[in-house]
Amino acid sequence: MVNRVHTDPERLWSRLMDMAAVGATPAGGSNRQALSDDDRAGRDLFVGWAEQAGCSIELDGVGNLFARRDGTDPDALPVVLGSHLDTQPTGGRFDGVYGVLGGFEVVEALNDHSVRTRAPIEVAVWTNEEGSRFPVSMMGSAVWAGVLPLDQVRAITDRSGISVGDELDRLGWAGTAAFGKPLRAYLELHIEQGPILEASGSSIGVVTGVQGIRWFRVTIEGFPAHAGTTPMDRRRDPSRPLGLALSGLHDMAAAHAPQVRLTPAMFASEPVSSNTVPDHITFTIDMRHPDAATLESLDAELRSLIAQAAEAHGCQHQVEVINDCAPVVFDDECVRAVESAAQRCGIAYERIGSGAGHDACHVALKAPTGMIFVPCEDGLSHNEAESIEPEAAGRGAEVLLHAALDLADTAT
Ligand SMILES: [Zn+2]
Repeated sequence: MVNRVHTDPERLWSRLMDMAAVGATPAGGSNRQALSDDDRAGRDLFVGWAEQAGCSIELDGVGNLFARRDGTDPDALPVVLGSHLDTQPTGGRFDGVYGVLGGFEVVEALNDHSVRTRAPIEVAVWTNEEGSRFPVSMMGSAVWAGVLPLDQVRAITDRSGISVGDELDRLGWAGTAAFGKPLRAYLELHIEQGPILEASGSSIGVVTGVQGIRWFRVTIEGFPAHAGTTPMDRRRDPSRPLGLALSGLHDMAAAHAPQVRLTPAMFASEPVSSNTVPDHITFTIDMRHPDAATLESLDAELRSLIAQAAEAHGCQHQVEVINDCAPVVFDDECVRAVESAAQRCGIAYERIGSGAGHDACHVALKAPTGMIFVPCEDGLSHNEAESIEPEAAGRGAEVLLHAALDLADTAT
């Protein structure tokens, strides 16, 4: 079967470059932090394009924006394509932006070819995905999906004391569209932000889900004593169980390779002194795995390793969970729509899990959801040097178009 409709990779690339010029940094990246004037300028640029393409614009109460191209069936649920336009302070040109402008390229391609879909197509711009200025990431989609209440989010302040609510009101972004409306499907196109596709040579990652993330804070208690006068065999030094626990944790991670991710960090000892045996040592562990049951068993193994290490050296310890995001498994129909679109386009693909969180994780709680990854240079992201090939950008948008057409045509 030959595809009749195509995206325009040059138009997409020039839009990406136009958007990158808003809040451009000297090192070649973008700085459009959430709800700032630069974020507004980026959105205004997008809204101008969307209105020119005949889309109607809606905002919900947390500023999530939906640009809608009507379908032929007024009762059909929309197929939503999107991501975010806000960036890290030293962000790249593609993280998030690519999913919004790739989604918009689908709308433009349908206009070019005068194709009417039965279901409406909407391009979503989620508010504050990055969480760098207002410290909660994937904020807009969290409110949309009912994960966080709007009041709580409006009260979050930046370092200068300005709140999300202040900025939503100032920018006129506190709209009235309903949160969590039913969708036919949601597809998010994104750069991989990792090295797997580049290494394997696949042009498209058909994303099957997002791994679970659990953060722990560990405290190991010792007994403070003089570093010069206390014989080694009379100490209760928390660095001894720390060493034993770290070695055991890394062995555990190696035994569960390649899917597990384990990152001990933020080591701190008290008192802050080089000639006192520490009273206690604290550290964090970021542990990730795509399978919920395995994450639970790794949690139990982690606790037992730390307990054994502490006990072996006569130390008390505590392990607390400070952040917990369950693994997300994307909708089978959406995954298959992406996969068969890649097949129809003759583009090399592989199934892949996401190591990072995305707005799609929240949307998946409410609607059938899938994601498409394209390779990025050296897997680099959250960096001004973040880079993708124009051809790679074009291939991702083409797969998004055909997956969206599949879902929009068969809407019930
Ligand atoms: Zn992103």
